[in-house]
Amino acid sequence: MRAGEFPDEIRSHLLPRTSGDLIYRCLQCDEIFPIENLLYTCPGCKSVLMIDDRQLDRLKEFPGPFWRSLFDYRKMINLPALKGIFLFHELIAPVIPLDDIIYLGEGHTPMVRANEPLQEWVGLDFYFKNDGQNPSASFKDRGMACALSYLNYLVRRQGLTEVLSICASTGDTSAAAALYSAYMSQTVKSAVLLPHKKVTPQQISQPLGSGARVFEIPGVFDDCMKVVEHLADHYHVALLNSKNAWRILGQESYSFEVAQGFDYELAGKVVVVPIGNAGNITAVMGGFLKLFDLGVIDTLPKIIGVQSEHADPVYRYYQEADLSKRVFRAVVVRPSVAQAAMIGNPVSMPRVIRLVETYEQAETSPGVFVVQVSEQEIMDCQLIANRNGHIACTQGGECLAGLRRALQEGIVAQGEVGVLDATAHSLKFAGFQESYFANELDSEYEIIPKQELKNVPSLIEAPGVERLPRPGITLSPEEFKNFVEATAQEIARQLGLKTKEPES
Ligand SMILES: *Cc1c(COP(=O)(O)O)cnc(C)c1O
Ligand SMILES: [Zn+2]
Repeated sequence: MRAGEFPDEIRSHLLPRTSGDLIYRCLQCDEIFPIENLLYTCPGCKSVLMIDDRQLDRLKEFPGPFWRSLFDYRKMINLPALKGIFLFHELIAPVIPLDDIIYLGEGHTPMVRANEPLQEWVGLDFYFKNDGQNPSASFKDRGMACALSYLNYLVRRQGLTEVLSICASTGDTSAAAALYSAYMSQTVKSAVLLPHKKVTPQQISQPLGSGARVFEIPGVFDDCMKVVEHLADHYHVALLNSKNAWRILGQESYSFEVAQGFDYELAGKVVVVPIGNAGNITAVMGGFLKLFDLGVIDTLPKIIGVQSEHADPVYRYYQEADLSKRVFRAVVVRPSVAQAAMIGNPVSMPRVIRLVETYEQAETSPGVFVVQVSEQEIMDCQLIANRNGHIACTQGGECLAGLRRALQEGIVAQGEVGVLDATAHSLKFAGFQESYFANELDSEYEIIPKQELKNVPSLIEAPGVERLPRPGITLSPEEFKNFVEATAQEIARQLGLKTKEPES
């Protein structure tokens, strides 16, 4: 829609102006720091930071219904800067001018409702929100769009020319970081650190294709993370891990979209996310709390975090019911098909602890829960979801397994509606499906492939065909006819097809 055609009360707010007073706040000592320099941890106590808008209350001058219609009308404006996560500019990073926003097609991913057989199998109505349909095929693009837009703003304001962006990754962060950095190739170079042999071939091809320097580090993600932290502490680099609080702000867009997708009516909704480094669940809680605070939503949704038995430090923490006895202990991870969440010492744990408290203290809060699932359930759920029309990755399968577990444990009940985060595209993790089908999953995963879920291609070598088509070889018309007919007959035989009646 053209700007002049929007209703009067919307038109003057359609294009957001820069506003707000953003600061880094230390979660441990409550110290605040200006945002003009990139900062990842508190210089005093080394704890993680959050970004707060000290003028958030200015947004309360307008009632919830105003924001709802503004965000809904904004979907109709054709301006690239507002086509992605910055449709919610006021709620994400209102200090960034529209001119500095980098938009590569992220956000506004579809919510796809489960078909009847799948709903029946689970026992609940639910949707997958396909965050694998982001540009680098995972939700990480949401946070990266915010972090790189802010970096772009700093680069332009401070006239910087040679910025090196760096991150450690279980695969998807590096794909997103390399993609957005490549878009800024004149000023930003990208380097990524990956745990050797712990990312899929598809994931490693992504930063390579974007032209990043790719380093493989022996060990698991937690080891990579330590190396990157050392680099960020001692050298001039822009850290793009979720320690970078700008990423959390961008990832809050997931919650804004879920709210928008249900016309801001979240009573009885259950939002399910896998937990790895815990940036995502932090952002999801933070996003809903912001909407609730501003009156954009009247009810908070229930939140369920899911972890595999092989990487479950957050689950273990919340197993202790007595708040005063809760202590966080990192775990040593074992191999997990939910590889993107295979993290034993989540960087955002202090943020989670803080936000769960706030979430549970909110008026009429439906609460936050963490459930644990087996590797077998993760893999089976992914395959079953995809056999019903979804494109879930293994972490999406983990969400489905988590929803079923939550139902069994009475955390959710009949009548509630699930929203499951399909955090990446199934193609990124195709190797796990392939190994499952071929019975070749390493025993460490503790998964026994189910015959009924397996699927392998059949090579058709029809009897009586002497010469087969090959590149560069032309068959005679007779040979080719013979090949087509015999091959078709063999397929029909294997499928048990009935021949058509001759037409009269
Ligand atoms: C990063 C990632 C996760 C885990 O998210 P955290 O923010 O680290 O908890 C889950 N699934 C996929 C596909 C990811 O890329
Ligand atoms: Zn501090």
